[in-house]
Amino acid sequence: MDISPDPENPFLGAKEGSQLKRRRPQTKQQLPHRSRGAMSQSREALAMDGSGTSFGKKNGIVLSHCAAFLLASVFVLSLLATGLLVYHFAPCPGGDSPSLADAASRDGGYPAEGQDGDRRSPHAGSKDGKAGKRLDVRLPRSVLPHRYDLRLIPIGLDTSVVGSNFTFTGEVRIMVNVTEATRNVTLHVGDEMKVDEAHSTIDRTVAAVSGGKRRKRVSINRHELDPSRNFLVIHLEEDLKAGEQYELYLKFSGVLNDLLQGFYRSSYIENNETRWIATTQFQPTDARRAFPCFDEPALKARFKISIARPRGMSAISNMPRIPGESKPVPELPGWVWEHFEESVPMSTYLVAFVVCDFESRRNGSFAVWARRQAIDQANYSLKVGPAILKHFENYFGVDYPLPKVDMIALPDFAAGAMENWGLITYREIALLYQQGVSTNSNKQRVATVVSHELAHQWFGNLVTPSWWTDLWLNEGFASYVEYLGVEAVEPSWKITEQFVVDELQNVFSLDALESSHPISIEVGHPDEINEIFDRISYGKGASLIRMMDHFLTTEVFKKGLTNYLKSRAYQSATQNDLWEALTAQAHKDGVLEASVTVKEIMDTWTLQMGFPILKVKRDYEKGSAKLTQERFLLRKREKGKAISKTASHEDEETEEKYDNYLWWIPITFTSQDIMNFNTTRPSHWMKKERSIILESGLPAAYHWVIFNIQETGFYRVNYDPTNWKMLTAQLESDKFTEISPINRAQLLDDALNLARASLLDYGTALGVTRYLSQETEYLPWKAAFSALGYLDSMLIRTGGFEKFKSYMLSLMENIYKHTGFTDSIRDEQLTVYKRVSVLGWACSLGHNDCVQNSIQQFSAWQRSPNPDKNNSISPNLKNVIYCTAIRHGGQEEWDFAWARYLSTNVGTEKDLLLAALGCSRETWILSRYLEWSVTENSGIRKQDAARVFAAVSSNVIGQPLAFNFLREKWDKIKEYIGSSLFTINNIVRSSTKRMNTEFELADLKKFSMDHRRELGTATRAVDQAIEKTEANVEWMKTHYNTIIEWLSHNSLNS
Ligand SMILES: [Zn+2]
Repeated sequence: MDISPDPENPFLGAKEGSQLKRRRPQTKQQLPHRSRGAMSQSREALAMDGSGTSFGKKNGIVLSHCAAFLLASVFVLSLLATGLLVYHFAPCPGGDSPSLADAASRDGGYPAEGQDGDRRSPHAGSKDGKAGKRLDVRLPRSVLPHRYDLRLIPIGLDTSVVGSNFTFTGEVRIMVNVTEATRNVTLHVGDEMKVDEAHSTIDRTVAAVSGGKRRKRVSINRHELDPSRNFLVIHLEEDLKAGEQYELYLKFSGVLNDLLQGFYRSSYIENNETRWIATTQFQPTDARRAFPCFDEPALKARFKISIARPRGMSAISNMPRIPGESKPVPELPGWVWEHFEESVPMSTYLVAFVVCDFESRRNGSFAVWARRQAIDQANYSLKVGPAILKHFENYFGVDYPLPKVDMIALPDFAAGAMENWGLITYREIALLYQQGVSTNSNKQRVATVVSHELAHQWFGNLVTPSWWTDLWLNEGFASYVEYLGVEAVEPSWKITEQFVVDELQNVFSLDALESSHPISIEVGHPDEINEIFDRISYGKGASLIRMMDHFLTTEVFKKGLTNYLKSRAYQSATQNDLWEALTAQAHKDGVLEASVTVKEIMDTWTLQMGFPILKVKRDYEKGSAKLTQERFLLRKREKGKAISKTASHEDEETEEKYDNYLWWIPITFTSQDIMNFNTTRPSHWMKKERSIILESGLPAAYHWVIFNIQETGFYRVNYDPTNWKMLTAQLESDKFTEISPINRAQLLDDALNLARASLLDYGTALGVTRYLSQETEYLPWKAAFSALGYLDSMLIRTGGFEKFKSYMLSLMENIYKHTGFTDSIRDEQLTVYKRVSVLGWACSLGHNDCVQNSIQQFSAWQRSPNPDKNNSISPNLKNVIYCTAIRHGGQEEWDFAWARYLSTNVGTEKDLLLAALGCSRETWILSRYLEWSVTENSGIRKQDAARVFAAVSSNVIGQPLAFNFLREKWDKIKEYIGSSLFTINNIVRSSTKRMNTEFELADLKKFSMDHRRELGTATRAVDQAIEKTEANVEWMKTHYNTIIEWLSHNSLNS
């Protein structure tokens, strides 16, 4: 799945480190997909500018760093909380799924809640009985599915059924294999599903003498529902026999919901008429909402699907339609059955079907589906899709196993996209691209998401993680190779270089928190599973896989991968299976010593949270260097007090805990006399050891050294002051380009974040930024804008902001002239991104030429005779121009943009306008905009509510309004948004993000106290906001004066 996480909330679920340990037996599933949708939406929308430095994203970055830093303060509290939670909820030894087998054999397959808890939790039966029990949500393994024959009728899509609601009815025949005798069959059914007990049957299928199959009925005693884990337990009158095959038949009905999960409805308007769509989103645990099933990823089966559809609409599923005449549905006049070929063995979460009146375009076995009025935007994805698929067939060394690929753009879709095998679903802006309207980054987004989902067809679909614990492998892998797929079809974009600033440096800020979590983590309950679809699984996962690609070398990496995929095809696997395949290849080709395994190396990265900082202390006389590793944390455990040797006994204990955080670090470096920025295979390893001495390979004392070439290792680097001085001198010389752009980006990102964590003085860190006055490349600027964004957000409301502003503008003087205000279609991707970034910052800092240009172009658009057809603003500059013009304009500009928002047919344009509308400085306009975001039929889709809050909050004038609105209209917002977890959370986060004064902190705490009882799912977000604000307050106390002082003495113009 592509979650397109929100850059404003890269740490979404950042307290998972503690939260994930707990079990929440009483919690019902909280609309996870929809929630993620809200989250993903803002990222995608913001990400649309690609550079990340137009207004929306610039602010996003500001927030992300701010938030990330502040979250560090979670530490003390989370320790406390963790302690308590662990006490009450700690998983018991051996308490994962396998024990279900015990339970199954003991009580015939169905682990009763009480017994299970009693048996496995020492806390069961404690006073807090409910909370104390650990709920095992895994299915028993006594009955395994082999084949599903599924028939579904979605009702309410057309007007032919008078008075119908949005529901569906269905029946399923599940061929199951019994592995051990049991007197019940336990499978999943969703919350709102009704299974018709009277019509359920189960038959033993026996080979008949005639050669066919004979059936023998087994009597059903009763159905039992266990809603807390979505179990339907079918109790039988006699045992099912081990080694036998049975057919279970169930008839059921459900609701075609509007929650963007399970089997759900979506709609759009064409010619003033509402058109309905029935579609699915199952990952991770919502197939059970569409049909009774064994809804776990390892329980693969073949699927034979039939869907009823009204004549005039289409039905699409994973497999091709069986040709021939469609048979009418007897009970529904005007409806026909559509039958699909039987699938290969696959997981339930990959099943998909859609009924809609879309049109399609074809390219060989590839088809793209969209609304009739949007189908012209499908050309680009239809072009790159097959090319990327071909690339992956070569890359993985395994052919794509299905006969076709359908890709469909849905008007309502929670995540960015979903890799259902053979039928990939997308939100419109992730699949559709309109030349001349959409931006370059929209285009890159389409290519990237298509590539991500196609990568999953192998990694995820063909070989599937045995359980969600290994989700990171699935998602990290797709998030890495998506770059390789795009690189193959759009080499000029240099997308693998973009990886470093967009993924690796981005996720550093989240993983630098005490409250981060290991990427490989035990999960059980659907809520927990949903929580790990986060930046850590995706961004860090991808960064670790990239690191492996480099330390193993690409050739070895690919060969190992092919072996893994071939040996595990149509099965499930764990990360250890991949490590084994890679180790075997690495030993064969001699890239790892025989005594070292990939598992040994990678376990230090996947089972421990966080990442190391490598300290390089050179001995200039001996020509050696001492390398030391320790965990990089943005904020130490105690406020303002670093953990040191002189600390108290308690701190020593904590320090000891930190001491256990050691990694296998691949060491690469180059120096001023060698200048080799290409060799990324490590020359040394730090083998999970605290420090090593490098005796050789270092340059003369007067030459600098740089570690972590191309930033392929997942770690930061700090140097002794002399080496930092030499590096800064090189950057400030006219030979600064001798250091590769990625490593220039690394120096900026590392220096500024080390300073933020008080590991480097701000003088040195800001000293590194001085050279930017001569920098003209995108990557270093992107890294700088991200890291300096935190300063921007902390200083923007202070008297010292003027100094920051003039320093930034002076740094940007050269690059501003260099990039200019004119976008050309001949410009390379990174040139375009650079321009968007630079103009975004310049205009927001009030650069006169930038502002005037924007206003002029926007006003020319306003005057054009048919503005919906004629917009002469270059697509890539729209973000900057719209936002600047609306910021400096009044009601007229805002109303004009709002009218364009309502009338455009292009998803990417709608999204862009939604962000720009938050740029107004008119408080009443912003307040009205917030009001509309939670008003039915205002023109803003419910799923976009959080997007509006983010847009308004990214504006320094808007943020307090957003917070006030949240405080005053709390009840209304909650009622409108419902239980959508992340929508509320995102609103809380964005509306509190720049808070850094004691006054605001008190305000926020009061809000928390006043609403404590009804905060519900937002409790964590509010607590985080408080903790972040505390950390911001502390940062201001520690660093504000130093920074202003430095800026006063270092203005480049003075
Ligand atoms: Zn994915």
